[in-house]
Amino acid sequence: MIPLLLAVQAALPAQPQPPNLETAPLKVLPVQGNVYTLFGPGGNITIQVGKDGALLVDTMFAPLAPRIAAEVKKLTPLPIRIIIDTHIHPDHVGGNEPLEKMGATGLSPGEGRGATVIAHENVLNRMTQPVTGKQTPEKQTGLPNHEYDTPTKDFSFNGEAVILIHAPKAHTDGDTMVFFRRSDVLSTGDIFTPERYPFIDLARGGSIDGEIAALNQILHLTVPEQLQEGGTKVVPGHGRICDEADVVEYRDMVTIIRDRVRDALKRGLNLSQVKAEKLTLDYDTRYGSGDVFVESVYKSLGGK
Ligand SMILES: [Zn+2]
Repeated sequence: MIPLLLAVQAALPAQPQPPNLETAPLKVLPVQGNVYTLFGPGGNITIQVGKDGALLVDTMFAPLAPRIAAEVKKLTPLPIRIIIDTHIHPDHVGGNEPLEKMGATGLSPGEGRGATVIAHENVLNRMTQPVTGKQTPEKQTGLPNHEYDTPTKDFSFNGEAVILIHAPKAHTDGDTMVFFRRSDVLSTGDIFTPERYPFIDLARGGSIDGEIAALNQILHLTVPEQLQEGGTKVVPGHGRICDEADVVEYRDMVTIIRDRVRDALKRGLNLSQVKAEKLTLDYDTRYGSGDVFVESVYKSLGGK
């Protein structure tokens, strides 16, 4: 039983199906400045509040939407106006549709419209185009209504510069990081998950080298804490609120394992031989089984 269960879990890292969304606990914690994080059974939701209303980065799962909205109401009586999707996975965009409907127009005025839902265009493309071997697209409701296709996008909301940064071919090909410049908080989506190995979603355009580039990009944007001054806070896709030092440690781990796999490829090892090398053993007590990660690195580097 247990080995089979573990094997099934290892094979499905991108599609977590939490057992009971009605009773799963939700918890909001302040991050810094105007920014909060809502922790729960899906990906973290970053919340920015102020005079204009609420902005959400990611939306967890649809059945949680009324409870998510109730948590936002505790922070501000004003409506949710902007939703930003960090990437396509259902534990991050599942609540788009109900939360959009509960919200009020944000960036793009339109009659009867709810909140503005922003994502990189690759997210919208993958949601609306059929996946190979399937008749229907991945998603037909809760689509972003405001996509961007440039390396960055910025706007002002709640008196603060909000900067969206596209990280090409990292966790997926549609990853957006969100930087709240005055609050000094960076929301990373699943590019950074401090308690588990990164999931490189090769089927949705992810790559190990893009993942490392994105982690380095986070380090360019963050500034460490100095004496009493607060440093940049980093809200990961899953897991606790972090700072630059946490990302340095994670970037180093990911880079070291990439280099080990690349070395094994140079030695001509096939996938089962690479797995038998146990290249993540020294990190597994911290991040869990490295098998799925190693396989994705191997394939991302061109291994067959
Ligand atoms: Zn994800």
